[in-house]
Amino acid sequence: MALMQTQLIVPFEDLRYLSITCGNCLAEVTIDLADTTHNPNPNQCPVCLQEFDQASVREHVHSVTMAFRQITKTKHRFSFRIRKSLTATTPANPEL
Ligand SMILES: [Zn+2]
Repeated sequence: MALMQTQLIVPFEDLRYLSITCGNCLAEVTIDLADTTHNPNPNQCPVCLQEFDQASVREHVHSVTMAFRQITKTKHRFSFRIRKSLTATTPANPEL
């Protein structure tokens, strides 16, 4: 048995869609961080119409949106690396 570690590399640009799950009704709102014109209102749940509060949702959505836009317009490339440990009996693993 061999222990293998792999990394899932996620380019920062691929983190384009931010989902918010409403704490009241569990509906999910997805915001396209790269598109400012076609997004649902990020300040209110589209199902139960409860407003998301400023401190716990709106400020974070704004911060993430600004970070995404600034980071993706630089000439440098950012990525996240997610470690994944696998225990494999054979070198071939269909999840790799
Ligand atoms: Zn809701």
